[in-house]
Amino acid sequence: MPHDLPKAYDPTAIEDHWAEYWVREKLFAQPAPDTASFAGDLSASEASIRPAGKAFTILLPPPNVTGRLHMGHMLNQTEMDILTRWRRMTGRRALWLPGTDHAGIATQMMVERQLISEGKTRQQLGREAFVERVWEWRRHYGGAILDQMKRLGASVDWQREYFTMDEHLSVAVREAFVRLHEQGLIYRGAYIVNWCPRCQTAISDLEVVHVEQKGHLWEIRYPVLGEDGKETGEFLTVATTRPETMLGDVAVAVHPEDERYLHLHGKKLRLPLVDREIPIILDEWVSRDFGTGAVKVTPAHDPNDFALGERHHLPSINVMDPIGHINAEGGAYAGLERYAARKKIVANLEEQGLLAAVKDYTNNVGHCDRCKTVVEPRLSTQWFVAVNKSPRDGVPSMAELARKVVAPDADGKKAITFTPEMYEKTYLGWMENIHDWCISRQLWWGHRIPAWHCADCHKITVARVDPTACAHCGSEKITQETDVLDTWFSSGLLPVSVFGWPNLGRSNTPGAPGPSHLGTWEKGTNRADFDAFYPTSLLVTGFDILFFWVARMIMLGCWFAGDVPLPDGSPRSLADSVPFKEVYIHALVRDANREKMSKTKGNVVDPIEIVKQYGTDAVRFTLASMASPGTDIAFNVARTEGYRAFANKIWNAARFLFMNVDRAAEAGIFVDPAALGGMPVAAEDAPLEARWIVAELHATAAKVNQSLENYRYDDAANAIYQFFWGSFCDWYLEIVKLRLDFPMDGPGGESASEQASKRNSMRAALTTLVSVFEASLRLLSPFMPFITEEIWHALYDGNPPAKSIALTAYPTLSEKEMEERQGSAFLAGTYVHMSFLQNLIGLVRNLRKEQDVPEKEVVPIVIHAVTDAQKAFTENLDVVQKLARISTIEYSEADLQGSDVSRHLSHFAAKIVYERTVDVAAESARLTKDIAKLEKGLAAAERQLGNEGFLKKAPPEVVLGLRKQEADTRMLLNKARSALDALPPE
Ligand SMILES: [Zn+2]
Ligand SMILES: [Zn+2]
Repeated sequence: MPHDLPKAYDPTAIEDHWAEYWVREKLFAQPAPDTASFAGDLSASEASIRPAGKAFTILLPPPNVTGRLHMGHMLNQTEMDILTRWRRMTGRRALWLPGTDHAGIATQMMVERQLISEGKTRQQLGREAFVERVWEWRRHYGGAILDQMKRLGASVDWQREYFTMDEHLSVAVREAFVRLHEQGLIYRGAYIVNWCPRCQTAISDLEVVHVEQKGHLWEIRYPVLGEDGKETGEFLTVATTRPETMLGDVAVAVHPEDERYLHLHGKKLRLPLVDREIPIILDEWVSRDFGTGAVKVTPAHDPNDFALGERHHLPSINVMDPIGHINAEGGAYAGLERYAARKKIVANLEEQGLLAAVKDYTNNVGHCDRCKTVVEPRLSTQWFVAVNKSPRDGVPSMAELARKVVAPDADGKKAITFTPEMYEKTYLGWMENIHDWCISRQLWWGHRIPAWHCADCHKITVARVDPTACAHCGSEKITQETDVLDTWFSSGLLPVSVFGWPNLGRSNTPGAPGPSHLGTWEKGTNRADFDAFYPTSLLVTGFDILFFWVARMIMLGCWFAGDVPLPDGSPRSLADSVPFKEVYIHALVRDANREKMSKTKGNVVDPIEIVKQYGTDAVRFTLASMASPGTDIAFNVARTEGYRAFANKIWNAARFLFMNVDRAAEAGIFVDPAALGGMPVAAEDAPLEARWIVAELHATAAKVNQSLENYRYDDAANAIYQFFWGSFCDWYLEIVKLRLDFPMDGPGGESASEQASKRNSMRAALTTLVSVFEASLRLLSPFMPFITEEIWHALYDGNPPAKSIALTAYPTLSEKEMEERQGSAFLAGTYVHMSFLQNLIGLVRNLRKEQDVPEKEVVPIVIHAVTDAQKAFTENLDVVQKLARISTIEYSEADLQGSDVSRHLSHFAAKIVYERTVDVAAESARLTKDIAKLEKGLAAAERQLGNEGFLKKAPPEVVLGLRKQEADTRMLLNKARSALDALPPE
């Protein structure tokens, strides 16, 4: 029975093969349980695991459709895949759901850049043609990152792959918008936004990067006016970093108690260059210590000034157009680009003697995260979600709900838990201070806002179906809003929309606790997905999108799912409305020196390159072995090299095992197939090593399961590594070799019953070996899915009990078994005896080394030991003989104290009996030859180190190396000389 496993482990060949197989066979597809296709073609063992379990649902944070896989993805996908594979193998109905995000700004920029290279602009193309062009781009290049995921073997359900602009998801976006509008929670308003003059869109606070920049603080003198409206000759000096905004000034504010300005209360100023009369206003917000203590107020171009303007009922004068040029409000400066205008304004002020000072000033300037253009705070009309507003009496606001599900309730329970826990505080802090959410973007690529403006009555019609006439006056002169929705609005809906919301085939239950009670949506046909998979179990994501995405999913999920009754029609509780039960925030992957990876530093590790070099399994294991909550990973290829060696070790163990299985088969001895696929057990009378390795496997499985429950990927991976390499390969395999002494027709003379008993014990040994190995593969499979799949298929030699090792049962212990282990004297005895054996073998190996015993020689040993240890050694004499290379054990009553060649451990002492027999003449000749060679080498080194010229010219590391070589040679020479002296006379 040959097992088809190539001699050398070549990850590339096996990984490509299995990655393709998993996708082709749709192995990780997870239809809802009541759909017909489900029971389909599962084998009995697969079916026995899969349908029973409760769902484990996890959404892949959808990468941007423009994205490429980086090390951060590799880490979070490894973490998600380990958990999904593990949960699947423990019997959960595991669904990991993939998709890509249309990524408004990023994708639009990508295509715009393409157009520019062709000498075109999107404006020339027009909206419709441009959007078609983006779709075209997406069809050709979009989603490359998902192909990378396929190659890396992510066990996602590819049948469910979505794109956030897909039709059914767009329906959800529209429904959500319309419903929030109907609830009075969406409004249009003037607002200071971060405006990117390049992207020509508002961007959120979180998309603005602040960069420290050296600039200036200009101090400008505004003439004070008297009662008669004429200049009094006095000036009020204001300070600004953006003098061009003065064109939009509507007041100057001072602190009401600032003594310098008490006499100016109620006075007016003349705004230079513009000739506008503006009031001096009093506001406690003004800091008396900053600049001159007098602040120009430009409500249309600064968020603080905007708030000031609201408080004091001041007008807002917007002086800039969308591309950052001064508009008609700027009078003489109209048409100038913002920095050209700044130059001219400063020059003009200077000419008029109104520039009091120019000071160097370093401040934090906001830049567009996408295109790095300096952001212009600017007043514009945007669409908002009123997240703090209650839609009607007694119903909490979206933000309130989103706080409630994270904060502990009266019993300390939380509907959503964060790991690491500190992010709970961060989240709640942010949600306490959340402002209304600006959801409009001035882009062409995205979900266009379903609102129509009427040219006649100027009212707005918001509708689920494109209207042909104004809902207010019936006019047909309506045009659709040009803005699109913020990308996070659609991705915030994903946990509900991917499972079919809003078409769930049932209207709202009156009296349900949900926020809307509108019950207006179309009746769909299928809510099996929603019932099976919502709420999802876990979200694994980065802290950088905690607010962008996590918070929005919580708000929108609770809001809309809250309206969906449970399958039995009863109202859904808040705890069942959440989009996910747990959030795991993964750490960062840094370089080997713990530096953040960045293109500018050139220390970025490309996961695809590393995978090519070492294989996916080794890279995954590297990340897993360092991943724990809240700890950044210092990625070091030396470690990956080590885990590549680990994979190799497993491969070789498999080959050794197959060789023995095949030889046993030739001798008519076969593994009991019933022993495979579950948790191996050992009989009470089994040999020590069998009882021990089974116990070690149980302990490792318990540790791994428990560690994964707590997101301690590192502990889980390290436990498996120690078990496989240390316990299984280094000890167990070495011992079990002795039991598998095939073929059977040796120089026997054994009786038939002796033969039968020998065959029985061999069958038992072989069965333990294979069943423990098979279980170990399953234990390792979520971490190293490829190599385990390959070996597992080879183990079953073409007849595996399932289509994939990923569909078998994970080695686990029941709670009862865990308890039994705790108090088991038998188990404790096994461990004690095995440690006696390991200690003795280790000790004898050391003694042999110290006394220079040649490898091929077997030696007798003398032991003084407690009774129990003596029992262990006697029962396992063959093991000690083979592994420590000894002939006999003599037990001494005396304690061996005073013998300089003995070694003492807590339960026994041992010494080896060895007299070196030396051929004095030959040894003397060898040493003499060695000494001559060493003397020559030493002389050469000394000569070179005595050469001043050489020392001056040679690089320091060469000189250092030479000095070390000189010292080493001198040491060896002394050793050889004393060895020669110590030789007995011939
Ligand atoms: Zn930009
Ligand atoms: Zn109208």
